[in-house]
Amino acid sequence: MNEGRIQKVKDWLKEKGHAFAFIHTTANVFYLSGLFTDPHERVLGVFVLPEGEPFMICPGMERTQAKAAGWTYDIVGYSDSEDPWDKVQEKLDMQGVVIASSFAVEKESLPYARGEKLQHMFHDANIVAAEEYLNELRLIKEESELETLKEAAKLADYGVEVGVAALHEGVTEMEVLAKIEYELKKKGISQMSFSTMVLFGEKAGQPHGKPGLRKLQHGDLVLFDLGVVLDGYCSDITRTVAFGDLDEKRREIYETVLQAQLKALEASKPGTRIGDLDVIARNHITEAGYGDYFPHRIGHGLGIDVHEFPSMSDNNDGVLREGMTYTIEPGIYIDDLGGVRIEDDVVVTADGYETLTKYPKNLQIIK
Ligand code: MN
Ligand code: MN
Repeated sequence: MNEGRIQKVKDWLKEKGHAFAFIHTTANVFYLSGLFTDPHERVLGVFVLPEGEPFMICPGMERTQAKAAGWTYDIVGYSDSEDPWDKVQEKLDMQGVVIASSFAVEKESLPYARGEKLQHMFHDANIVAAEEYLNELRLIKEESELETLKEAAKLADYGVEVGVAALHEGVTEMEVLAKIEYELKKKGISQMSFSTMVLFGEKAGQPHGKPGLRKLQHGDLVLFDLGVVLDGYCSDITRTVAFGDLDEKRREIYETVLQAQLKALEASKPGTRIGDLDVIARNHITEAGYGDYFPHRIGHGLGIDVHEFPSMSDNNDGVLREGMTYTIEPGIYIDDLGGVRIEDDVVVTADGYETLTKYPKNLQIIK
């Protein structure tokens, strides 16, 4: 549980005059309560009130887990045969929340039917977006969060190291992928940040290609994109290596992506307009003649969610601040030829940046 974060939400509710906030996403429940869980279709969430104590609505069977995660406030449990919303209403009544002119929920993801349940309790209330404040709060990472992100990034580096060591002629993408995840599981990782990507040759020419039974051949580019979830925090790394000697064209693509990535990294410091990182990398790639082959933004915020705020797109007018964490991941993808993407996890420091992922980036030719 994080008392400081709960207090900030309470202060926000007070300032805005909202009667309560209902926080239900795995990421934000974890951020406030320490409980990291997927309740599937069951209702689980934290109610924060401007005055008085917050409480958690939680399937009875998860109660022990919530306490073990450090939640010391009240837990309203319910069994599978009970209606959690009856319990919520009872508890809100007890807390004195009987009328509300407005309340906050995570609008982007709260199921409509659950919004209706709350609306029925408070007919005339406006429902506002809790994300507005929570996204802002999560934007700047605390020291303890950075420590965890660094450890998660180290494990991502290790995943690439395992993958590169597993390359030999004829091995399939899935064999290499399985080896990476097996070695990470042995280190205690139960969950990857997203489906691991190992792509050979022309398969690397798709930004979101699907690993399969493609066999490794000499002259292939090999793209790894992977990350782990460690204590609730994600990492996300991409490296591209060459298997056997590369032709001129593929070398040129590699060098272009690498220089674009380094330029965007160099611009990472407090005060830089966020969108400029995309612009800087894109200009470099466009000048080299590959502008049409870089079809996605330069990166995304990184933390409890593998994609979170800030969005690192060219139209983001926000500015970088110390403690922000995000990825820088330019790429060039050409059908048949293959693709190159290089991705690091970055934290903005007082006067610049630090990369959390550290696996080498000079063109590596595996013989
Ligand atoms: Mn990414
Ligand atoms: Mn990635």
